[in-house]
Amino acid sequence: PKKLILILGDQLDLQSSALSGFDAKVDQIIMIESAHEANYVWSHKARIALFLSAMRHFAKALEDLKYPLTYVKESTESLVDELRKHVLKKKITHLICVEPGEWRLKQAIETLATDLDLSLDMREDEHFFCSRQTFLDWTANKKELRLEYFYRLMRKTYGILVDAEGNPEGGQWNFDRDNRKPYPKKGPGIIEPPAAFEPDELTQEVLAYVGKTYHSHPGSLEHFQWAVTRKHALEALHYFMEYRLRNFGIYEDAMWTETPFGWHSMLSSALNLKLLNPREVIDAALVSWKKHDLDLSTVEGFIRQILGWREFVRGMYYLDMPQMAQDNYYRHERALPKWYWTGNTKMACMKDAIGQTLKYGYAHHIQRLMVTGNFALLAEILPSEVCDWYLAVYIDAIEWVELPNTAGMALFASGGRFTSKPYVASGAYIKRMSNYCNSCQYKPDIRFGETACPITTLYWNFLMKHRTQFDANPRTRLMTANLNKISAEDQTAIALHAQAIFQHIEEI
Ligand code: FAD
Ligand code: SF4
Repeated sequence: PKKLILILGDQLDLQSSALSGFDAKVDQIIMIESAHEANYVWSHKARIALFLSAMRHFAKALEDLKYPLTYVKESTESLVDELRKHVLKKKITHLICVEPGEWRLKQAIETLATDLDLSLDMREDEHFFCSRQTFLDWTANKKELRLEYFYRLMRKTYGILVDAEGNPEGGQWNFDRDNRKPYPKKGPGIIEPPAAFEPDELTQEVLAYVGKTYHSHPGSLEHFQWAVTRKHALEALHYFMEYRLRNFGIYEDAMWTETPFGWHSMLSSALNLKLLNPREVIDAALVSWKKHDLDLSTVEGFIRQILGWREFVRGMYYLDMPQMAQDNYYRHERALPKWYWTGNTKMACMKDAIGQTLKYGYAHHIQRLMVTGNFALLAEILPSEVCDWYLAVYIDAIEWVELPNTAGMALFASGGRFTSKPYVASGAYIKRMSNYCNSCQYKPDIRFGETACPITTLYWNFLMKHRTQFDANPRTRLMTANLNKISAEDQTAIALHAQAIFQHIEEI
């Protein structure tokens, strides 16, 4: 047999299951840079640069090991078309790869294998704690699929933050309540900056190429300091554990102008490219907890993101695709406002979150969920347009993680499949969790009229439209109880003002 191992751009791991049983004397490896993949989503320049630079560095690591590698550079064809050409030219009989993190690509590779009568060995992605089968088994006979129960199972299965009897460390599974503090009124004070990596020669070459070839794409390359090698990724991990984990938990949800990274780990892209393994990230957090005598709430909060959310959304993605990409529970149809691509809006919170996204390709979880995501839901934007935006603009965006977070969590597009309630909030939430409203021309407490906060207006409008749904759910009933306190006259004014916002959505 003539075996070819395909390594995709987000599978940059020398321990990858694709390479198990690999024999450098007879087997071959292929990596493909495809412009089609960058154009398929209207990618942020930094996202394209990150993929290309990390791929080229990984290719170098393979070459250093003297592995026989074909590296297709800057192809203008699709990945599968390049693969087809190579398979035919080299008379390959066996194709080996790890399951792609994108359903479309998985289907395309399977179709290619059938077309060319190739023996396809698509292997499980062992990077993750939870195999697809384990997730499927967990979902069996469950009426509701909720993170909390899945997360407890993961904690117990892997003995993470549990005692010998399987009880949670500190007597509770979840310290979420301790992890929702805003920054102090006078500001976040001094935050240890995250690790940053000056572009080396190879990265500079990529930056120049991307700047030229993708000049019309959104986003900036000027602040590109992401980890592009395993060495960088380990340094970034170490740095976070030493200096930044301590305040991660408490300020996890906090926002402040010109504070793009807060105390967050900035490890998502390294994890998603598989430069880091989630096991080593969790191990490092446990070591740091003891070494620096950190609060359990911060360590648990961090571990929950990785052992809980990250694994949960991946399980949901494979469970619900391809349906998930079509889901539109509320049947929202409005186009995404153009200013999502420029940050050119008068809403200070949206301007800041979008602005830093275009600058760095990064925004933290609450900015994605409760600022840009919340607005998109309240403004009734078509889910697939919102998902395309998230997939394009974040350096850590890969469909298996982006889509469930956007469609499932932020937009409630899959109905109650992921969560027990839609995540909607008015300007009051943003006022509580940030300083954005101080510099905004809108007022978070005003519900209609010229100075009304559009998020507040659209929030009440949303509740009025979905009153029955919110009333029926014990977790949202308080919201409609507050709505009932607003006079009928004011409710009419809110609905009218919401219509005006929708009509002039490009100008708000
Ligand atoms: P931290 O806050 O430091 O968290 C630590 C790690 O936990 C992250 O690196 C990440 O690997 C993991 N994590 C945290 N939250 C989640 C989550 N909800 N789902 C999966 N993993 C999580 N994350 C992506 O990696 N790619 C995406 O494309 C993506 N799109 C999102 C879209 C929306 C609408 C929302 C609400 C969230 C999205 N997330 C996505 C999840 C989360 O916002 C990012 O993982 C996080 O902001 C990355 O920054 P960080 O590394 O500093 O994370
Ligand atoms: Fe955002 Fe409204 Fe506050 Fe302005 S007033 S920053 S739009 S929440």
